[in-house]
Amino acid sequence: MTTPLIIGGVEVAPGSSVQLNIPVAKLYTDTELTLPVHVRRSKKPGPVVFISAAVHGDELNGIEIIRRLIQQQLNVIRGSVILVPMVNVYGVLNQSRYLPDRRDLNRSFPGSPKGSLAGRMAHQFLTEIVSHCDFGIDLHTGAIHRSNLPQIRADLSDEQTKKLAESFGVPVLLNADLRDGSLRAEAVSSGTRILLYEAGEALRFDELSIQTGVKGVLNVLSSLGVVRKSRRKNPISPFIANRSQWLRAPVSGFIHEYVGLGAKVEAGDVLAEINSPDGSLLDQLVAQRAGIIIGKQNIPLTQEGEALFHLAYFGEEEADEVVEHIELMQDALEPMPE
Ligand SMILES: [Zn+2]
Repeated sequence: MTTPLIIGGVEVAPGSSVQLNIPVAKLYTDTELTLPVHVRRSKKPGPVVFISAAVHGDELNGIEIIRRLIQQQLNVIRGSVILVPMVNVYGVLNQSRYLPDRRDLNRSFPGSPKGSLAGRMAHQFLTEIVSHCDFGIDLHTGAIHRSNLPQIRADLSDEQTKKLAESFGVPVLLNADLRDGSLRAEAVSSGTRILLYEAGEALRFDELSIQTGVKGVLNVLSSLGVVRKSRRKNPISPFIANRSQWLRAPVSGFIHEYVGLGAKVEAGDVLAEINSPDGSLLDQLVAQRAGIIIGKQNIPLTQEGEALFHLAYFGEEEADEVVEHIELMQDALEPMPE
């Protein structure tokens, strides 16, 4: 027996595919703000999984990942998949991470039906979507002018979450704490296991991030038995970083960087030089220990103390394998259609 699935007051029958718009709030323009949701249900019972994007409204790669999944006509053979391409519709409209009052939706969970717009959105998303789900994949990107190497962040101390994270097929898994007010922290209480996919930068489409994300979601769904297993074996195995750190600019100036996303650095390596506008060398940014660059800022200007490179730390032997697998991930990029 499959349990009834009721979203936004609509019962979605087993074996059906529906598109819904869940009311969230009325705007001062007299416009109804609604949450677009696509549901694919199999006749057979099985896990219920949500895939969400744009909890931060300016993070676009996830919207494109979900668009491609919808276009591929996901064939759900067990359980249900709930696709939510724009959780923060308001932010997408404003091309902004935030909601009114500069509220961050991912710090506004669990929210409440009488709260601010952020609180209401958080509450609606939690009650209408997340509470039905056994698993979820929340798609994010770096901030504006900051790029992330495709990576999964999750609570890897939980065995089942770890297994799921490994099945995604990215080289870097970051064991991440649960932040207060975040979707992941709140989902723990409803027993929903969540992976957070981080790739690319805000307000941009990045093909590597998008293709890796589409494959990753399908890999996770197939490992749960929700879609058929693909015949292609994923050659990319994951490595867990238990620690990561942002390296900050020692002085203000113009940056000349020597390393990019996915690079391995050794202790003592110069990652960037910081120069004055007249060209004289002010200081160097030096790695204190060996790691892999999983995030970086893209503007070649910096203010003292600004975070420039995000390094993930692995075991000594692992690091070379991580680099190899990052290359495999880049090689797996399919050519763009003409
Ligand atoms: Zn985000």
